[in-house]
Formats: sequence, C-alpha cells, structure tokens
Amino acid sequence: MTTVDGTALDLLSDLFAGEGAAEYFGEEVTQAEHMLQAAALAEAAGAGPALIAAALLHDVGHFGALTAAQGGRDGDVLMAGTDNRHSDTGADWLAQYFGPAVTEPVRLHVAAKRYLCAVEAGYFGRLSEASVHTLRVQGGPMTPAQAAVFEADPYADDAVALRRWDEQAKDPQLTPPPFAHYRTLLTGLLTARPAR
Ligand code: FE
Repeated sequence: MTTVDGTALDLLSDLFAGEGAAEYFGEEVTQAEHMLQAAALAEAAGAGPALIAAALLHDVGHFGALTAAQGGRDGDVLMAGTDNRHSDTGADWLAQYFGPAVTEPVRLHVAAKRYLCAVEAGYFGRLSEASVHTLRVQGGPMTPAQAAVFEADPYADDAVALRRWDEQAKDPQLTPPPFAHYRTLLTGLLTARPAR
C-alpha cells in the first residue's frame, strides 16, 4: 500500500477527516466520531496501547477507499443485506502495519457481538437498531460450539472489551479527542514502514 504522502498514519488521518466524516449507517454519529469515541472509552477504561489502537481503528474495514483492493465492500452493502466482512478486511489491511494485538481484536469484533448475544442475557436488547440488522446479516447469535471456539481465541477477551466500547460509542453529545491525539501511540505500535 503506497499512500500519497507515504505513511499509513497520514492515510488513516485523512480517512478520519474525509470518508470517516460520512454518516455511520443509521447511527447518530459519523464513522469517525464513532471510532474516536470507542478509542476514548478504551483509554478511559485503562486499556493498553494496542487495544486503544484496535478500538480507534476497529471499523477501518468500512472505508471503501482503504479496502477496495482487498475486496472489501462499503457499509452500504452491509446495510443492504450482504456481509461486507469489514472486520476481516480491516484487520488484513491493518496487518500491514500493526501486530496481532491490534489486528485480532479488530478481526473478532463482529464475532464478539455474535458471541455476546449467545452468552449474555440482555445483551441483544441493548443493541442499536442498525446493529440488530447487521447481526442477522453477519450470521446471528453463535451456537454453543461456536461460542466455545471463540472463547479459546487468545484475543477473545480483548475483542469482547472492544465490542462493548463499540456499542457505547454512538453518543451524539460526546466530543472525543481527535485522531491526532493517538498519533504517538500509533507510531509506537507500527511494525513496519509502508513501501513508497
Ligand atoms: Fe463499530
């Protein structure tokens, strides 16, 4: 992935300001606000840098400009009834720059919703309307066997934590810190420089 100015962080910053400022499918906040709120919640909860980064970047798979080359499809497709696999496309894109402590909670954050619907009474009832809609498209609540497989994943706990911040990060009244607030944290997590 080569970016205009050569760095993944500049590309991400541009996406938060540009494509991310668009509506977040049926929610009251934009995609960028949603992801920034998730990161702020992670930070407030005392999460480590990698999990804060995962919260910040968990929905990059919705950015069509970023994932088109990997076969990702934008969220409008998801809302129209086709799973765009945004967790996988986002995690795969992030894996160019970040290690598994960042990418795997991102990859599992949709599975975590399906998991929590299966194991936690009352969780389903707290989902937003849009999230209920996408749950159906994403496969519905896990079976007990699927939940057992999920629990065995070393990043399951992080994914569940991320999922809870994800659900909360839809408050139109909040003004979370901007992308730039996380720049130093993200730089410290980069595993490689993108090719020019
Ligand atoms: Fe999200």
